[in-house]
Amino acid sequence: MSEPLTIGNISVLPGEVKRGGIPVGRDICGNERAIPVTVFRGARDGPILWLNGATHGDEPEGPFSIFLATQQLDPAELRGTVVAVPVLNVGAFAAGTRGDPLDTFSYDMNRLYPGRPDGYPTERIAFAHWQAMKDRCDLQIAIHSGGEHSYLAHMIFSADNPASWELAAAMGPRWTLVFRGGAGGGNPGSMVGRPGEGGVTGGVGGECRGLGRGGPWCSVAGPAAVTRVRWLAASVRGVSLWSWAVTAGC
Ligand SMILES: [Zn+2]
Repeated sequence: MSEPLTIGNISVLPGEVKRGGIPVGRDICGNERAIPVTVFRGARDGPILWLNGATHGDEPEGPFSIFLATQQLDPAELRGTVVAVPVLNVGAFAAGTRGDPLDTFSYDMNRLYPGRPDGYPTERIAFAHWQAMKDRCDLQIAIHSGGEHSYLAHMIFSADNPASWELAAAMGPRWTLVFRGGAGGGNPGSMVGRPGEGGVTGGVGGECRGLGRGGPWCSVAGPAAVTRVRWLAASVRGVSLWSWAVTAGC
């Protein structure tokens, strides 16, 4: 029988899906803090893929993409494991800002990996995340966007090794802009890439801002018989994703 895979405060067997957290200590009020994580462990053994979103709190495209992707996962059909971390920087995401507004000394989480166990709050989160990931990760995709300050083309920053290049290529033909980064980037992708595993950072433009805060994203399939509507609310209090279908009855 396979050993449980332990990440944060959860242990997951083949074929299971579990939600939990990666503990990061206490806040100034003494409350426990944790990075939310969901582990989809396939029935069959295989590589472990981490999906990390909202390293920067003003980039809801990452959580949105991870929610959509993981809705399609069926552990019974899966070979390997997907570790979903839709919101890495919880304080920043709750505020809708690039960094945690309560931590101005280590504001940019994507520059300080692998963090420090006794550092500023953001450094401690990075450290806890890295400790949970570093020995249980074969592939890593961190999803970014332009945030409040810019609109990015679809681009990938790849760690400079064959596993990362292969992962970047596997993202598909739309991703034509691939930067080969060095090993010292201070971000999860660079850190994963150091021992030769696949690590990339993907920028997905600024679609969420384009959608608006609560604006409709509509598509119509068929001769006006079925209308499928999705709403994304990406305001300063996180993401709400609603989805429903309407049959016109004609
Ligand atoms: Zn970012």
